[in-house]
Amino acid sequence: MKSSVINKASVRKLDAELFTPFTISSGSHSSMTNALFTLQSAGGEKGWGEAAIATHITGETRAATMRNLERAGEALLGLDAADYLGAMCLLEKRLDGNRAALAGAEMALLDLASRLQGVSLWRFFGGRQARLKTDITVVIGSADAALDFTRKMRARGFRIFKVKTGSDMDEDFRRLEAVRKAAPGCPVYLDANCAYTAAQAEGFLKGLARRGIVPEVVEQPVRKGDDDGLAWLSRRLPMPVCADESAYSLDDVFRLLRKKAVGALNIKLTKLGFLRAREVWTLARAKGLKLMMGEMVESELASAAAAAFAGGLGGFDFIDLDTPFFIKDSGLRGASFLSRNGVYSLDRVKAGIGVSPAGGR
Ligand SMILES: [Mg+2]
Repeated sequence: MKSSVINKASVRKLDAELFTPFTISSGSHSSMTNALFTLQSAGGEKGWGEAAIATHITGETRAATMRNLERAGEALLGLDAADYLGAMCLLEKRLDGNRAALAGAEMALLDLASRLQGVSLWRFFGGRQARLKTDITVVIGSADAALDFTRKMRARGFRIFKVKTGSDMDEDFRRLEAVRKAAPGCPVYLDANCAYTAAQAEGFLKGLARRGIVPEVVEQPVRKGDDDGLAWLSRRLPMPVCADESAYSLDDVFRLLRKKAVGALNIKLTKLGFLRAREVWTLARAKGLKLMMGEMVESELASAAAAAFAGGLGGFDFIDLDTPFFIKDSGLRGASFLSRNGVYSLDRVKAGIGVSPAGGR
């Protein structure tokens, strides 16, 4: 048997406590409850992938994701990791209805393939931008909590603050004012996670402008499906309107671009898988859209994979890969290329994604 043939696959839970609940307008994570997928080649090389479960956003559950990963593992046995593209096409079909599982399975496959080649996943995707600095998210909560958090993170070296909004407008104004007070002059991104109507979103942005706060990008102000609302806002707002929940598939992106509904797209591997994420990148670049690389609540493993994708391909305007900073201990090791102030130094990764479970299991 060739040493690159896949001969083992396994799935286990990947759990971690969070320093603070990750609360957005559509729900909250009180802990990380993901799944770890491992592939092994006949020569003993391993690759790891993470499936990030965000039930309140995608409807996907961990139980179903783990079952689907087990089945995907069985389907991959006997395939040659050298034909990773053929294997990815197979996974795209089998796991289309469970994108977290799709992203996790493709991640393990690409980690294995790039480790077998002795190159980093960043280099595998093109090696264009070696350093990426992530923003840090200010979750929904009190203005006092936002003030403390922003002060602490600014002191640590974070310089871009992505503020979640959409719970209560007055509370959101107070939280954004707190962020500005704690980090004057620092860029702010806004993410409402579908909370507003288009008119409410415009009203909220006007209210912020009266307070002297102008976000650099406004992410998913309206509900998924409201393309007209996105287009209306794109015509009226000075900053790019970014689709996240509305851009869940290649079809979605194709439609949004044809309608000129957005000025930016948030690419998440967990929404699209790697193949379609790359196609979205291609389409968006061709049309001159701005790009954000984002994630769900993901450990260093999936975050580093997303960073390798974004830094490898290049051309990303907004990097939102900060959830490792919310996690206490995932049990994963190797992410020393991610600094305490949110910089991914991707040229320091020797092979694959560069993150693996403690003890290699
Ligand atoms: Mg978002």
